[in-house]
Amino acid sequence: MYRIIPAINRILVSLSQIQAYSYTISELNESFHPNNDEDVNKVEDLTFAKNVLLKDVSYQYIKGSTNFELQNITIDINKGDFVLLEGPSGSGKTTFIHLLAGLIKDYTGSILIDHTVLSNSTCKAWQRNLGFVPQASIVLQDTLLSNIAFGEAETEIDMESVQTALEMAGLKDFVNKLPLRLQTQVGENGLTLSGGQRQRLILARALYRNPKILLLDEVTNQLDDENKLKILNTLKGLSRKGNTIVFASHDHTARSFASRIFYFDSRRVQEVQQNHSVA
Ligand code: ADP
Ligand code: MG
Repeated sequence: MYRIIPAINRILVSLSQIQAYSYTISELNESFHPNNDEDVNKVEDLTFAKNVLLKDVSYQYIKGSTNFELQNITIDINKGDFVLLEGPSGSGKTTFIHLLAGLIKDYTGSILIDHTVLSNSTCKAWQRNLGFVPQASIVLQDTLLSNIAFGEAETEIDMESVQTALEMAGLKDFVNKLPLRLQTQVGENGLTLSGGQRQRLILARALYRNPKILLLDEVTNQLDDENKLKILNTLKGLSRKGNTIVFASHDHTARSFASRIFYFDSRRVQEVQQNHSVA
């Protein structure tokens, strides 16, 4: 019986991960609501130079219901901003990130990237600018290296970028102490990661690609203060170099690092003037 428990645990974890993704996956087949017909030619390249503008965006998960998860949102995010998304659980932070990531398409209103409308033809090109760390990310039963250079053949991996990502995610010392270093297997018969190490590994995966925009959903939740501050400092450094950070968290530690705070409440998003407390 005791031998079976870990296996059952793994199945439960997998099920909860599938559940967390099922909505994202089901959305992938949908088309953008306002632009269904005109998007024949795919845009290959969409450089993010200035800002993203959400214009009067409303979204409801259940169409035709009276409830809107986000209603009439007009807000811009500029290149180099470190935006903190705050608000109680269920206030729409994750939904907002999914809108920005192009995962939710059946909203009303528009999202403009440097004046280009996010649509079926521009979405893939937009997503190439993004590093996205979802609230429920998956760690593969594979080496640390494969987990960072997710989906890349070993010969294609840029080791310099891997090292930079490790350093930024605060994993370098940890990895260097392992006998097999980046070739260490994670999970199953390999290394068991703590919650914090897991989260840093997932962050390293996003940082590896040096994305122009990082969408981070509750990524510091399981970290101790020291690692939290390390990562927030790294992110602040990145935003100073022109990377854009969108960071959802109900942890107030992030406040002093962010350049802008958006507060989510009652379907609305309100920008908080810094140094003023909210709710
Ligand atoms: P937060 O990230 O701030 O906790 P979410 O964006 O996850 O908030 O959720 C906002 C609201 O949308 C909540 O009321 C939540 O129950 C609802 N919601 C989230 N995902 C779904 C879904 N897939 N189907 C229906 N409702 C959802
Ligand atoms: Mg959330």
